[in-house]
Amino acid sequence: MARTKTKANPWQPYEDALRKKQNELFDSYERDKAAGNALPDDGIQDLADKAASAYSKELNFSLSDAERNLLMLIEEAFNRMKADKFGVCTNCGATIGEKRLQAVPWTPFCIDCQELQEKGLLT
Ligand SMILES: [Zn+2]
Repeated sequence: MARTKTKANPWQPYEDALRKKQNELFDSYERDKAAGNALPDDGIQDLADKAASAYSKELNFSLSDAERNLLMLIEEAFNRMKADKFGVCTNCGATIGEKRLQAVPWTPFCIDCQELQEKGLLT
């Protein structure tokens, strides 16, 4: 996942917030892992490989459902930034308010659709 800085990103503050949250989640995972497991003795693994395999396997067991879900939402938010669709509700296409994005930059929904989703009315 290469990050390019060729042009100004209008979502930079949100991207920073998302990265911070993502790092927090990864940090707590790393702490859990360090506390629970000895270091592998099979030599130095490429960091990217390690991250990829950790993400797909161990991470799934170490994080709570809510944390895992949040990481997924953060990934999707990054994807929407790349696709130039960040800040737009994925359900109804409405613009998501600035205050809402500041509070929950990973949200895919506007406030109305979020309510529907929480009530289980969104499929
Ligand atoms: Zn909506």
